[in-house]
Amino acid sequence: MRLRNIPGARESIAESDYVIHDETTHKGKWHEVFGNNNPIHIEIGMGKGTFIMEMARNNPDINYVGIEKYSSVLLRALEKREQEPDIKNLYFIRMEAEYVEDVFDKDEVDRIYLNFSDPWPKDRNAKRRLTSDRFLKRYTGILKKEGTIHFKTDNIDLFDFSVETAETCGWQILVETRDLHNSEYNEGNIMTEYEKKFSVLGHKINMMIIKQPV
Ligand code: SAH
Repeated sequence: MRLRNIPGARESIAESDYVIHDETTHKGKWHEVFGNNNPIHIEIGMGKGTFIMEMARNNPDINYVGIEKYSSVLLRALEKREQEPDIKNLYFIRMEAEYVEDVFDKDEVDRIYLNFSDPWPKDRNAKRRLTSDRFLKRYTGILKKEGTIHFKTDNIDLFDFSVETAETCGWQILVETRDLHNSEYNEGNIMTEYEKKFSVLGHKINMMIIKQPV
């Protein structure tokens, strides 16, 4: 998702208390940011943040961090976030996901959500996909041993690639469905913005939940 450049977006983000600015200084100490030892769940590529906000609202005993690389998109999330100051367990970071290991320590993260990640259809861009082997390795560097990745997409090619990559890299596939909304896993599912948009168009939603190699 890339929105038209919004003048002042960077400034608004820089001033916000809901955005963590010096993210690398909290590595290994995120519990201090939240003031408790609750589990940490992150969403990489949160877009406008509706999903992670709903998750944070529904699960006050879990700490959430939403990551997004574009200021213009993060600003939209921030505008919504500011309407709900009662939510205490949610922060945003504007960053490129490839640096997650600079921000979170080994065993610091309990769950990673990847929702409707950019498909990067050309083979030469495969390494940019957020479910490529390079990214899975980075996730291993921040996830707890029992931690999981929850991935949803309507894009079949990206889904096939992701399942295959996870298997090749020795991850355990805990859940795999190619029609989430008509499956047993749909109960309690929180739809993301893209998920709503694509399911209205009749696209089936794929989901996998994976656990890292032991
Ligand atoms: N998760 C949202 C948005 C999906 S679009 C939803 O399901 O509705 C994918 C989002 O991921 C875009 O906003 C894009 O800017 C962001 N993104 C893609 N690659 C990224 C990366 N490498 N690092 C951080 N954010 C990324």
